[in-house]
Amino acid sequence: MFDKVLIANRGEIALRIQRACREMGIATVAIHSTADEDAMHVRLADESVCIGPPSALDSYLNIPSILAACEITGAEAVHPGYGFLSENARFAEILGEHGITFIGPSPEHIRLMGDKIMAKKTAVDLGLPVVPGSDGAVTDGLEAAKIASDIGYPVLIKAASGGGGRGMQVVRSAEALSTAVLTAQTEARNAFGDDAVYIEKFLGTPRHIEFQIISDGQGGAVHLGERDCSLQRRHQKVWEEALSPALNVEQREKLGNLVAKAMSDLGYLGVGTIEFLYENGEFYFIEMNTRLQVEHPVTELITGLDLVQEQIRIADGARLSYEQSDISFSGHAIECRINAENPKTFTPSPGLIEAYHPPGGLGVRIDSGVYAGYRVPPHYDSLIGKLIVYGRHRTECLMRLRRALDEFVIEGIETTIPLFQQLLKEPDIMNGDYDIHWLEEFLSEA
Ligand code: ADP
Repeated sequence: MFDKVLIANRGEIALRIQRACREMGIATVAIHSTADEDAMHVRLADESVCIGPPSALDSYLNIPSILAACEITGAEAVHPGYGFLSENARFAEILGEHGITFIGPSPEHIRLMGDKIMAKKTAVDLGLPVVPGSDGAVTDGLEAAKIASDIGYPVLIKAASGGGGRGMQVVRSAEALSTAVLTAQTEARNAFGDDAVYIEKFLGTPRHIEFQIISDGQGGAVHLGERDCSLQRRHQKVWEEALSPALNVEQREKLGNLVAKAMSDLGYLGVGTIEFLYENGEFYFIEMNTRLQVEHPVTELITGLDLVQEQIRIADGARLSYEQSDISFSGHAIECRINAENPKTFTPSPGLIEAYHPPGGLGVRIDSGVYAGYRVPPHYDSLIGKLIVYGRHRTECLMRLRRALDEFVIEGIETTIPLFQQLLKEPDIMNGDYDIHWLEEFLSEA
């Protein structure tokens, strides 16, 4: 097992990984920008290295600096967390070239799934159902028009290298299509340095349902059930729950076993998430994330597994020590993303946290790196913490979530806590009756 792991991230996820390492007796190295000198992930690490100025490009995305930090501290492995370099195949490759283990999948698999067109082709080959659409990139308006009329409007133009909910455009009529393809290509080139776009049927009322898998690259692979992440704003998840209120046991087992087998066939190593849209009883693959997800704790609460420790063990060459029949799901878990944002306009609200009192008690987990007196820097993502609540069933979970939100005190900055308090008054939310457009509609009516 590794003696020392460098955590190439910041905020709550850096702390989350530190906790896993500490329980395994592994020393931790934090990296940080000059804006994060006072961050909790730096304070609690065994060692820390400043890797650059506030801009993420010069710090958390700065591969030469991170490599130097590994060499100075003698870290044997790097955990990338999520975001930043977590899905950068070249980073994983460079670490390998320097004899440092990347805690994650092989560069080949990161690259394969990072290209959404290749990912979709792979999904088809592995026997997974996909959203109807173009077989590969579309290059001109004529070709696009043919595909769109075959699958029917509305269609969605997506960037092959897109991510984080960006690079998508809905087209509702043939007249608008060729201009939309051109605009999408230009936007994709500017945002992702790759102008490949593809076309998909735009689904009207789907849920976003994703399966967590874990695979040891040596044939062992299991699924850990699904998460329902349908509550989204601008294609970004806001609230996640496990299991989905919409699936039954047979559906779960059927698709879960299919994705686990697909990962075993692929020889995939690590944790991963296979994302689907679900509408009228049918599943459609949209993409795979080859990393730990923000919402992984809801899966941990219903399975009892520590996903970060599993990642570390597998990266160290261990085989899975359990089979699918050893995995069982108990109770219900919901995660709310607490962002430093105005709860109505969603404008970022960085600044000094004057008072901080997190909720506690049975079934309440807080993953956060903030404290009273901490200044939320303006340079990064506005996620400042996650409130994750467990109950024996969904109703208990919802009641506990309401209680926990009422206890939560964060003063000095604005947060999304009031939004979640609002949501818990909605019958649709209480009944689990919502799709990927529900939240946007709710916000536009408010
Ligand atoms: P990203 O990598 O940017 O997160 P995804 O392909 O995972 O992109 O899609 C993000 C979200 O966009 C989905 O959760 C869903 O809300 C919406 N979306 C994606 N594909 C479709 C589709 N074909 N029809 C309707 N909505 C879609």
